Amino acid sequence: MFGLIGHLTSLEHAQAVAEDLGYPEYANQGLDFWCSAPPQVVDNFQVKSVTGQVIEGKYVESCFLPEMLTQRRIKAAIRKILNAMALAQKVGLDITALGGFSSIVFEEFNLKQNNQVRNVELDFQRFTTGNTHTAYVICRQVEAGAKQLGLDLSQATVAVCGATGDIGSAVCRWLDSKHQVKELLLIARNRQRLENLQEELGRGKIMDLETALPQADVIVWVASMPKGVEIAGEMLKKPCLIVDGGYPKNLDTRVKADGVHILKGGIVEHSLDITWEIMKIVEMDIPSRQMFACFAEAILLEFEGWRTNFSWGRNQISVNKMEAIGEASVKHGFCPLVAL
Ligand code: NDP
Repeated sequence: MFGLIGHLTSLEHAQAVAEDLGYPEYANQGLDFWCSAPPQVVDNFQVKSVTGQVIEGKYVESCFLPEMLTQRRIKAAIRKILNAMALAQKVGLDITALGGFSSIVFEEFNLKQNNQVRNVELDFQRFTTGNTHTAYVICRQVEAGAKQLGLDLSQATVAVCGATGDIGSAVCRWLDSKHQVKELLLIARNRQRLENLQEELGRGKIMDLETALPQADVIVWVASMPKGVEIAGEMLKKPCLIVDGGYPKNLDTRVKADGVHILKGGIVEHSLDITWEIMKIVEMDIPSRQMFACFAEAILLEFEGWRTNFSWGRNQISVNKMEAIGEASVKHGFCPLVAL
């Protein structure tokens, strides 16, 4: 059985959907209350592959909220993720995706040192960040979006915001090796990590956001920002393709300008309906078929019987692994969202 560990996008969102999640008593509660709320299994479902195979899954709501990071409630954030992992293991999930900020909190605060959660010894082989499939999906979205706009990637300038991250660095590797994009602009805050990436790729220009964005034909947004940023559409090239792979999504309602085209990054659509309620709550446009690519990775690992932490650690995602998970994704009927 596979699992998904998810969380809501903000306190406001959590309060609005508490009733739908099955705990109406949380609806009027502030951050303090959510900091002490335990994880819960809120959905059980089946997923059918286009091959005919059917698997069973569960959704674990961790009760983590991004405000726990912005308001420095770090101990609460850590507790949320570890408790949700322990619950996933206790209810017998063989492979579980750490969605949204779950894997970022796990890595940032080095939680692999905390494998004992009360009476549960966490077995990390049973978890995956889902980042290999997410990076693959984002790259396919860049390719499809560029094609729709008539952009030739080998002649394009691509800015990757969050380039040194797990997903960002994988996207850079793919775009470099598969398309030899003309310019790769690398954006993040930590200079040393940027230089390490530049050395690994043997290319790429390190730039700040304000300098990079006006030069870019394509912007890939994969920074881990708990709050959104505002970009002035006038300063962007026209046409410009933006693939917003961050969670929470920051950009699609904020950048408005003719010629600027935004794709919701890292989202896939399945070819068949899925019997779950949870994607309505996380506000997918077609809740019975759409989901985050990281969640889909756990589904793919279960379909393929690859019960292992396929995506783990940081900055180790190879193009070969992206191709392997991509093949499984197509085989079982998943498709990246590509309509502009
Ligand atoms: P990482 O923590 O590995 O990387 C984050 C990157 O963002 C780093 O390069 C970091 O570098 C950079 N960054 C953070 N803050 C800023 C800032 N203020 N300005 C510029 N750069 C910044 O994260 P992941 O690669 O795991 O995830 C990236 C995003 O993708 C997240 O938003 C995550 O929620 C989302 N995601 C989406 C999934 C999906 O299924 N759609 C699945 C998994 C993740 P530095 O700290 O040096 O600035």
